[in-house]
Amino acid sequence: MKRVGRLAPSPTGALHLGNVRTFMVAWLQMRACGGEVRLRIEDLDHPKHKAGAAEGLIEDLRWLGFDWDGPVVRQSDRLPLYREALTRLGPLYPCCCTRADILGAQSAPHPGEVLRYPGTCRRRVAPPPEGHLPAWRLPLGPEDDGRYVDAFAGPQTKTADALTGDFVLARGDAPAYVLAVVVDDHEMGVTDVVRGDDILPVTPAQNVLYRRLGWEPPTYWHVPLVVGPDGLRLAKRHGDTRVAAYREAGIAPGRILTALARSCGWLAPDETVATLADLLPRFTLDTLPHAPFIWRDDLLP
Ligand code: GLU
Repeated sequence: MKRVGRLAPSPTGALHLGNVRTFMVAWLQMRACGGEVRLRIEDLDHPKHKAGAAEGLIEDLRWLGFDWDGPVVRQSDRLPLYREALTRLGPLYPCCCTRADILGAQSAPHPGEVLRYPGTCRRRVAPPPEGHLPAWRLPLGPEDDGRYVDAFAGPQTKTADALTGDFVLARGDAPAYVLAVVVDDHEMGVTDVVRGDDILPVTPAQNVLYRRLGWEPPTYWHVPLVVGPDGLRLAKRHGDTRVAAYREAGIAPGRILTALARSCGWLAPDETVATLADLLPRFTLDTLPHAPFIWRDDLLP
């Protein structure tokens, strides 16, 4: 069977080293076995999305040597597909809780956890207040387990109910990201999902959707994130780790790829590569550390 992987950036900002490392794993995994790579821009409406970011992401990916098969898929073009899946997933219930309401009902999530919904509106009898755009949640039953064995991160022992509770599938009539990803991966024939392990907590919820829609889930490979020296996920406070900033500073793609490939155990500390394709014979997941990778600019060769 042909394997299909994907790169699925959200246009929340420019491509940075954290995305690149995950995408290198995803791309090399497929290219090393003769599989396909698809590119999907996850541009469903989100307050953090930035105008022009999608074009910038594509340009940065090309500059680094990534390629992909077929046209670029944009989630904003595919709303009817998600709405059709929604009709197959009902009945959902409307929820009017704010984040503060949900937090008030429990303790705040720990790092690496998501906010679990305690099911407050499941028992609501009054209709949502006038003018309020409800979130539509899926009431989970005992059969909605979602646990699975991650091909990289290992057995996942918490159920969807324990992690997310009844999760949101749409806000008003806008489908939620969690649903769109499942519909897209199924529809695009994706067999292998390589993504950052920050998404581990919602994967059981996505498995619930696969089961309810009667689809086979992909093999998941959740890989560790790139963090700053303070252990927090790479962000602006750690300096400018945007690919575009390195390019503007005259740094060749091979230097970025070399630094990241060393962190994956594909190159010895004194070895370098010039292109992404140079890494094909080196690719293995066996050497990829299970701990987050701590980035410092002096790691650039
Ligand atoms: N678009 C998501 C992100 O950039 C990734 C979703 C996924 O890979 O399933 O964080």
